[in-house]
Amino acid sequence: MNKRVVDLIVEKREGAEHTKEEIGQLVAGYVSGSVADYQMSAWLMAVMFQGLSDNETLYLTQAMVQSGTVFDWSDVPGPFVDKHSTGGVGDKTSLAVVPLLAANGIHVAKLSGRGLGNTGGTLDKLDSIPGYQSGLSVEAIKKQIKAVGACLCAQTEELVPADKKLYALRDASGTVQSIPLIAASIMSKKIAMGCKAIVLDVKVGSGALMTTYEGSRQLAEAMLRIGEGFGRDLVIVLTDMDTPLGKAVGNRLEVQETIELLQGDPAVDARLNAVVTDLTVAGLLVTQVCKDREEAADRVRETITSGRAWAKFEEIIAAQGGSLERFNAHNVEPNGSVTAPHDGYVASIRADVVGLSAMRLGAGRDKKEDTIDLDAGITINVPLGKYVRKGDVLAELYSSSEKKSDSVAQSLLEAWTISEEEPGLRGVVIDSMRSHGVSV
Ligand code: URA
Repeated sequence: MNKRVVDLIVEKREGAEHTKEEIGQLVAGYVSGSVADYQMSAWLMAVMFQGLSDNETLYLTQAMVQSGTVFDWSDVPGPFVDKHSTGGVGDKTSLAVVPLLAANGIHVAKLSGRGLGNTGGTLDKLDSIPGYQSGLSVEAIKKQIKAVGACLCAQTEELVPADKKLYALRDASGTVQSIPLIAASIMSKKIAMGCKAIVLDVKVGSGALMTTYEGSRQLAEAMLRIGEGFGRDLVIVLTDMDTPLGKAVGNRLEVQETIELLQGDPAVDARLNAVVTDLTVAGLLVTQVCKDREEAADRVRETITSGRAWAKFEEIIAAQGGSLERFNAHNVEPNGSVTAPHDGYVASIRADVVGLSAMRLGAGRDKKEDTIDLDAGITINVPLGKYVRKGDVLAELYSSSEKKSDSVAQSLLEAWTISEEEPGLRGVVIDSMRSHGVSV
């Protein structure tokens, strides 16, 4: 017999542990409408304070997965991997990692989202390619995976509808920042995608969902336990998001930077290159396409220098209706800049400030309904650790008017710390972990 919803809320408020059936009842009831928003938000708030046990987190993930379609790839031969990032400023890694893996025979059905607040979304970046269709049906995704090996598309309505409803409620009720809720939200979508191998990039720092190493590590561990509960092979890489990733922040600008990386431009940002390489290496190893890190790292380099990564990117974009010719024909010029206020080393560039400034230039949304300017953004001219002279250009701004860029430039400059001392810089890849039995 089902319990009354109010009793479940009170039990969680008092710190009791729910059974699998109780969590299933709550999630199914919320999706069907028999559990009201006010009841679910009270339960979510109780979870914020009392947490969920490992078993409850697993049951929640299971109930969310069961709310929608689960992909079955058994009729498609070859390895599959799913890739996810917790998101950050300038994070265009999916655009590069997906073709790099697919060019090596690994299938990747990458379902992405839109940006909100100071973090960007892969779908918005892809919108800057004229003609690109990110909304594919489940059937179209399957067809494209069989034909091209990969897709970069939007979350389908059928995939984990419970998460869509719950996430909107969490966003509006101050209940996003709970490790078990975040872990269940992310992992339910990964499990529903049906891939045995999963590579996760958990960001750490001012521009990330989790700002501290401890928080990111706890989130990673919670996701690892869920993955193991479902018998999946996970590799989780913790990467720095105190500093924006790469030189470009903003949708068109980030696609342009990805193109440069995939075409093997030697001037590509070293930190971006390191994260893309590490995630691709993880994908090559977790699927056992390569046998050790050295072979996998060589494979990444070869996939770029041979032109195979670029060719696969072109193929994916064309399959989804995008025109890179029209993308290249549309040139955008900066209409503002920030300059170094004095001589010194670039000691830090705060990702949160850069992300917020890019949003104010038009590159991101404050609210879900906002429209964005795909050309808007920021390019960072000088990497961390470099010495600059007073007046050197640190970054350039792109927006619909000089006035807008001027008004943002003032606050953008606050992102930089220029110090007399040469800074000690930590690597962009901070830590990694993997499921039992996965040797990476
Ligand atoms: N991303 C998700 O998909 N879910 C969360 O809860 C937070 C970030």
